[in-house]
Amino acid sequence: MELFSIKARSSREDIHISGVERIVSSKELEETILNILKKVNRENADFISIKIEKLDRKPIVLKKSLCIKELKFNNFKEANSFAIDYLSEITGIKKERLSYLINLIHSGASPNGENMRGAMIINQGGERLELDRYRGVRTTTVDFINRGDILKRLLDLGFTERTLDALALSTKNLYNENILAEYCISDDKDYIAGYIATKDEYIRIFPLKEKGNRKGGRIYFVKNDTDINELYNYLENYPILIEDVCLKRI
Ligand code: AMP
Repeated sequence: MELFSIKARSSREDIHISGVERIVSSKELEETILNILKKVNRENADFISIKIEKLDRKPIVLKKSLCIKELKFNNFKEANSFAIDYLSEITGIKKERLSYLINLIHSGASPNGENMRGAMIINQGGERLELDRYRGVRTTTVDFINRGDILKRLLDLGFTERTLDALALSTKNLYNENILAEYCISDDKDYIAGYIATKDEYIRIFPLKEKGNRKGGRIYFVKNDTDINELYNYLENYPILIEDVCLKRI
């Protein structure tokens, strides 16, 4: 079967609004593109790009996503304090440095004080490794095989479509041996859930950011000896399809 990668993004006055990634068969192409257009065409976008490419290699098929787990806190400060403790344990990065980096995500980690388009990359020494700090690195070419069915199951359990997208993305990220963990908050001012992904868990954390804050972003924590060009190549070009969602811990 021929598979196509769709990568879409929108912006206004060069400020990123929204991005969507899908892998679909040729017969799903038209419907998916219309749905994607609806999704990215918001906040008075003045630029929308939708790129469609036939996959040039066979995707790796993963049986399961990371396992979803949920944690609730009284407020975003307590939640971030948990996140910092946990990420420090996993990565060995000092808590003060983690706190600085996470604050940067909450206040706009791009050099112009806006949101980065992709993720920040941090090694175990707490150093930033992105090749371009405006853009960061974008994880693309990953999707669930039966996306519609899985979305329905997640919605029935009270999750959102964002959870599905983020779960696919973080499953691809953590499948890479050099990525140890991920931290994410949305750039939607009303979406205050976030997550930490580790090698086997997607920990959905509520609330991980302050309501009304339109800053958001991702941090990928990597091993010290990571080859950065190889990492970019894996995240941006390597197609991954996921068969099922792991819900066993709920
Ligand atoms: P979202 O979950 O779509 O609200 O995205 C939150 C933030 O994560 C964005 O502001 C970007 O900085 C970053 N981001 C979004 N999509 C990607 C991606 N495909 N790969 C890496 N980082 C991303």
